[in-house]
Amino acid sequence: MTQPHLSDDALQMAAAAAPLPTAAAAHLAGCRLCQARRATYQQLFAAAAQLPPPVFAFDLAAAVLAQLPRPKPAFPWVLVLVAVLVLGVVGAFVALLGGALGQVLQGWSTGLGAGLVAVAGLLVAGQGLELLARHRRHMRLLTFS
Ligand SMILES: [Zn+2]
Repeated sequence: MTQPHLSDDALQMAAAAAPLPTAAAAHLAGCRLCQARRATYQQLFAAAAQLPPPVFAFDLAAAVLAQLPRPKPAFPWVLVLVAVLVLGVVGAFVALLGGALGQVLQGWSTGLGAGLVAVAGLLVAGQGLELLARHRRHMRLLTFS
């Protein structure tokens, strides 16, 4: 028996019927001290399994969930609002100039083209604001960590 006595971790593994390395299993088979300590852990595990689950005076799940950060929407709602506005402007444009639409579509550099450029500008501005807000959030996290 050249193997030293088993560690508490190995004894707990043996008590839980987890496989041990070959040398540790051989030591356990021949050492009464380690067998006795394993039996103690087995009794402890059996007693712990009989305990009722802990009961708290408060709602633990609600308390933990209240501490979690709110998930961020996957899509920025500012851009959704901008897209709705763009569709409204385009719809109004088509409704008001229905007859003359063919002529307007022939010249992209006129009203419709300018509208598209304005919409693109709004989208870029929205993305820039979102990026700036994200940067500020990250800088705040760095300050407190
Ligand atoms: Zn031993």
